[in-house]
Amino acid sequence: MTDRLPLSAAGPAAASSPDADTARPSSNFLRQIIENDLAHGTYAGRLWSGSPGDAAHQSRSGTPDPARIRTRFPPEPNGYLHIGHAKSIWVNFGLARDYGGVCHMRFDDTNPEKEDTEYVDSILDAVRWLGYGWEANGTPHLYQASDYFDAMYRAAEFLIETGHAYVDEQSAEQMRANRGDFTTPGTDSPFRDRAPAENLTRFRQMRDGQLADGAAVLRARIDMASPNINLRDPAIYRIRRATHHRTGDAWCIYPMYTFAHPIEDALENITHSICTLEFEDQRPFYDWLLERLSTPAALPDGRALEPIFARPNPRQYEFARLNLTYVVTSKRKLKQLVDEGHVAGWDDPRMPTVVGLRRRGYTPEAIQLFCERSGVSKAGGWIDYGSLEGALRETLDATAGRAMAVLDPVRLTITNWDALMGAGRLDACDAPVNPHDPAQGRRSFRFGRDLWIERSDFAEVPPKGYHRLSPPRTGADGSALPGSKVRLKYGHVVECTGFVNHADGTLAEVQAVLVPDTKSGTPGADAIKVKGVITWVGASDGLRAEVRLYDRLFSEPHPDAGGKDFLASLNPASLQTVTAMLEPSLAQARPGDSFQFERHGYFVADREDHRDGALVFNRATGLKDSWAK
Ligand code: ATP
Ligand code: MG
Repeated sequence: MTDRLPLSAAGPAAASSPDADTARPSSNFLRQIIENDLAHGTYAGRLWSGSPGDAAHQSRSGTPDPARIRTRFPPEPNGYLHIGHAKSIWVNFGLARDYGGVCHMRFDDTNPEKEDTEYVDSILDAVRWLGYGWEANGTPHLYQASDYFDAMYRAAEFLIETGHAYVDEQSAEQMRANRGDFTTPGTDSPFRDRAPAENLTRFRQMRDGQLADGAAVLRARIDMASPNINLRDPAIYRIRRATHHRTGDAWCIYPMYTFAHPIEDALENITHSICTLEFEDQRPFYDWLLERLSTPAALPDGRALEPIFARPNPRQYEFARLNLTYVVTSKRKLKQLVDEGHVAGWDDPRMPTVVGLRRRGYTPEAIQLFCERSGVSKAGGWIDYGSLEGALRETLDATAGRAMAVLDPVRLTITNWDALMGAGRLDACDAPVNPHDPAQGRRSFRFGRDLWIERSDFAEVPPKGYHRLSPPRTGADGSALPGSKVRLKYGHVVECTGFVNHADGTLAEVQAVLVPDTKSGTPGADAIKVKGVITWVGASDGLRAEVRLYDRLFSEPHPDAGGKDFLASLNPASLQTVTAMLEPSLAQARPGDSFQFERHGYFVADREDHRDGALVFNRATGLKDSWAK
C-alpha cells in the first residue's frame, strides 16, 4: 500500500512521508510489527465513529477507521515531562506519523490522589514544542481517562455477570498473605465462589458508598496458582473516598491502573499500545481482560450479553525505557531537587525535564535526533549523556550563528594604535554568520586601541607549547626573547610587549603592538606566520552580558544506582555565572536564540531573563565532550 491518508499527527515533520525522506528512520522491532500488521490488514476492519467508545458506539456510524494505526501517549498529569517521556512521545507520535496513523494524547487520570491540573498545560506544551500534535482530519484526539469511568464501571459489571470477577472482603493483610510468592502458589479467597448476583449487589453497594474505604475490592477471577503473580486474581476496583480533580465526588470507587489502561486503549481503538518493559508481566492480564470483554456471553438465566468491545483488540508491546547517565528521571527525585533548592525550578537548565532542556538551549530537532540514535529495542542499557549533547551540537552546527565572546575578560591595549591608525579610530572587521551557510550573511564589529581578550590567552611565563600571548623575557641561556605574536581572529596580528598587574598581583592589562599590513582578508596578511589565533571583543562596541556556564548536575554517571543517595554526587560546579564581553551582533539575540560562541560552545539567550540591555546567555553545551575519557 502506497497511498497515504491525509491523516497524520501534525507537526513540522508531518509533511514528509518516510518514503520521501532521505534520512529514512532506521527500522526497529516496533516498525516491523506495524508493517506486518499493515501488510496483513490486521486492523483494517475496525470501525470508528469519530470518538472513543464501546463496540456499539463505534458500529453506529459504520465508518472504517481512517487511521491505519492508533497509538497513544498516556502520561499521568502528576509532574513535568522529562527526557524519558520525550522518548515515549517520539516513539508514539513518530510511529503514528510515519504509518498514516494517529497518536492520541491521553491523560491517564484515573488515580484521584495524585493528579493535578497544574501539570496538564505543561505536558501539552511539551508535546507541541517537541514537534507533535494530536489533531488529525481537523479533530483533536485529546482524551482524559477519567471520561471513561462509566465505561470502566460497565466493564466491571460485565466481568461480574460473566463470572470473571468477585468482591473480596478479606482484609488487606489476608489478601497479601493469600497471594503467595514466587515459590508458593496463592490460596483462594473464601469470597471467591460467591454467585454473580451477590457480587453484583455487593459491587453496587461499593459504588453507592455503603462500604468503608478498604472494606472490599473487586478482583478478577483468574488463577491463584498462576506463576505470574499479576494473574493471581488482581484487584480491579477499590473503594477510595477521594475528590478527583475532574469528576469531583461522583465516584467513591476507582479502577486500578492495570484494569483501566487496556479499557482506555480499547475505547480509543488503539492498535499498538506501546509501553516500557516494566509492564511486560502485565501483558497477560491486558490480553485476558480484553479477550473477556470482547467475547459474547450467554448467562445461566438465559440472557445474552453483547461483548463490550469489537475485535481485533489492541495489543501491548514493550520496549526498554531510556536510561541516561548523569541524570535522575524519577519524578520524586526531580521534585526533591526543586523543593530543596538544589536547582532553581523545574525549568532550571540543568534539569532533564523538557522545560529544563528547552531553557538550556536544546531544540526539538536535537531531541528527536537523540531519540532516533538511542534506538528502540527490548534490551535495556544506559545511554551516555554525551550522546544527547552530541545531537545538540550536530543540529546547531548548521544553523546557529557564530559570535565572539570573551568569558573571562581582561583588557588588551594596542599601544601603537593611535600613532599608526589615528587616535580614536576604529577599524571595521567582519566574519561569516555561519561558515557552512553563506546565505546567513556576515556580521561586523570593530577593532581599536582597546580590546577584551580571555584571561587565559595570556601567560607571563608561557608553558611549553603555548602559542598565545606572552611578554618579552629572558631565556634560560640569558638571551632576550621577544614577546609572542598572535592573530586576533578576523583582525590583525599583534605582538605582545608587556602587561600591568593590579596591586594584588592579578593581571590588569596586557599590552601589545599592531603589526602593520596584517589585517585578515587583505593581500599579504599572511606574510607574517603566527601559531596562535585568539578571539577578542572590541571595548568600543562589546556588550556586557551575564553568562551562565552550566555543566552536568551530577558528577557520577549513575547518581541513584542501587539506592545510592543521589544528592551526594551533585556536581558543585554545575553552574558558574560570569560577566562576559560579547560582540555587538548579539544585541539582536531574542530569548531562545542559539549561537556558537567561537571556541566556547553553544549558548542560548535565556528564555526567562534575557532582555534588551540585560543580556543573559546559557551554555547549552561545549564544543566537545569534556567528560569523555
Ligand atoms: P515516572 O516513573 O518518572 O513517574 P511514569 O512512567 O510513571 O514516570 P507516566 O506519566 O506514566 O510517568 O509516563 C507516560 C509515558 O511515558 C508512559 O507510557 C511511560 O512508559 C513513558 N516513559 C516514562 N519514562 C520513560 C523512559 N525513561 N523511557 C521511555 N518511556 C518512558
Ligand atoms: Mg506511570
